[in-house]
Amino acid sequence: MICSLYFHHISDDILYYTNTKPQEFERKLVLLLEGSYTFVTPRFCLDENNDLQQRKYVILTFDDGYADQFINAREILKRYAIKATFFIITNFVGKKNSWNVKATYRSTHLTWKQIEILKSEGHEIGSHSATHRPLTTLSDEEIENEYFLSKSVIDERLGCSTDFFSYPYGLSPKRSFIQKYYKLAFSTVKSPSFDLSDPYFLRRDFKILD
Ligand SMILES: [Zn+2]
Repeated sequence: MICSLYFHHISDDILYYTNTKPQEFERKLVLLLEGSYTFVTPRFCLDENNDLQQRKYVILTFDDGYADQFINAREILKRYAIKATFFIITNFVGKKNSWNVKATYRSTHLTWKQIEILKSEGHEIGSHSATHRPLTTLSDEEIENEYFLSKSVIDERLGCSTDFFSYPYGLSPKRSFIQKYYKLAFSTVKSPSFDLSDPYFLRRDFKILD
């Protein structure tokens, strides 16, 4: 079986509903390891040689690409030799999160240098769009640009193929465009099951952490 879960900020300081304190983050990872879960990246799912029914697998993802993920989560991931997937907002790399107009605080996004280090350490880098606007409110052309522009920037910066996308606010628009650019896309719809037969609306979060 395979499941996926997601995090945003990993910080002791941020009072925001998407934040997880580092200690709590580590506790969840330990729970999963004690539950005999093996951490994999989405690329593992695409390899037909891997039998996903053989063991309990979990894909660990981070949305929004905050610098605190590098500062606070990276060392914890290293401690347990866990490879994760970081979904970044390409227009906001190295900048403050001014796209989040509802937040009462400002924090910094990962820099390209930090992203390159994460990549070199075996983590997967995916796209969380170029601007983090809700795709359901955009025109077809704007939606396609969000897919295309973010992918091409990451591909070029990291010299790889960016095959994974995470929808801003978890909202998926018409799905036809995304297949041109990505192999899997993640929502924020919660479900213990991870159904690869619906590869452009994968569910995340699951019961073990409740
Ligand atoms: Zn987001």
